[in-house]
Amino acid sequence: MKCFSSNFKLGILGGGQLGKMLLYTTRKFDIHTCVLDPSAEAPSKLACNEFIQGDLMDYETVYNFGRKVDTLTFEIENVNIEALKALEKEGVKVYPSSKTLDKIQNKATQKLLYIDHNLPTAAFQRFAYTEEINLAIEHSSIVFPFVWKSAQFGYDGNGVKVVRSKKDLQDLPNVECITEELVPFKTELSVIVSRNIEGEIKAYPAVEMEFHPEANQVEYVLCPARVSEEIANKAKKIALKASAAFNHVGILAVELFLTNNDEILINEVAPRPHNSGHQTIEASYTSQFEQHIRAILGMPLGSTENKLSSVMVNLVGAENYRGEVVYENIDKIMKMNGVTPHIYGKKETRPFRKMGHVTVVHSNIEDARTIAEKVKKSIKVISK
Ligand code: ADP
Repeated sequence: MKCFSSNFKLGILGGGQLGKMLLYTTRKFDIHTCVLDPSAEAPSKLACNEFIQGDLMDYETVYNFGRKVDTLTFEIENVNIEALKALEKEGVKVYPSSKTLDKIQNKATQKLLYIDHNLPTAAFQRFAYTEEINLAIEHSSIVFPFVWKSAQFGYDGNGVKVVRSKKDLQDLPNVECITEELVPFKTELSVIVSRNIEGEIKAYPAVEMEFHPEANQVEYVLCPARVSEEIANKAKKIALKASAAFNHVGILAVELFLTNNDEILINEVAPRPHNSGHQTIEASYTSQFEQHIRAILGMPLGSTENKLSSVMVNLVGAENYRGEVVYENIDKIMKMNGVTPHIYGKKETRPFRKMGHVTVVHSNIEDARTIAEKVKKSIKVISK
């Protein structure tokens, strides 16, 4: 392993909060990092060794950046894949690979992989344009209600809409998309899987995700999920199988629905550290960020066991506030035992923008959930 205190360079595409948290590990291990991000004020800027400002979707920019590093990874899916392919041909190690990312970047091809590998997922249809759904409705090959999803470039619930009537289709962009049956689910689970270059594979305990009803964003993540051992194991098994099916290297977050009949269906996967794994920083023996670095740099994987139960609370911009950010009552939550705030370093707040998160650790998950609610009620992300 030649990456510690050496000339080895790790490149990271994307310099947001996920990149910033990856850099905690590269700092700890003294690994030299280069970050590419379009924003001059990217959260990762201060913690990396070299920062380059540039467009992640531009071939030349990504290619020229990648040529300077030994191993390249990404903290965001929307990067130029053609550049990754060219870099791989020239011997740059790219993890996760362009092949894996290619399948995941598009929700239609992602869903096809589940079918090919006999992985459970909601029934779906694919369309080249949203307009074509109208024809399918006329021919009754699709029935209301259903879920519309943009095939590409969706994030945090943008690009997803429940369609209950033809009227709901009118405002949607006319892009490549899929429609999915509306799954009646009890709860949403997620399993973070890590797989290293040698194919060693480990899963973290299943977590439970509670969503904000309006913003369609994760509000609380509970670890472990409050489900039976049987269901938790089943979720783990499906997630491990998905990681192997994608031939994935690095962290793969597998988002799942637990249906009303206790069936588990894959919603989608993310080939990078994920919001549902932030609590691993305080609550696990190995954080998801350290695990990603270990996996892509050929190190042995760390333990995925919990030290304690935990609840993660997302800190998002309050409605009606825009501008220079203020974290109101942060002192109050810091007086609470086992409560750690993480501030991402974005200077401007806007409604529902992810500005930070708070981890609550406790020996008991129900107590952690109660404290998390107090945290949520106390702290406010507002503007000056
Ligand atoms: P994104 O890629 O933006 O995170 P998702 O595909 O994860 O979008 O969908 C966002 C949320 O929408 C999910 O977490 C879930 O709450 C809801 N959702 C997505 N697909 C379905 C479905 N088929 N049935 C019911 N709810 C769904």
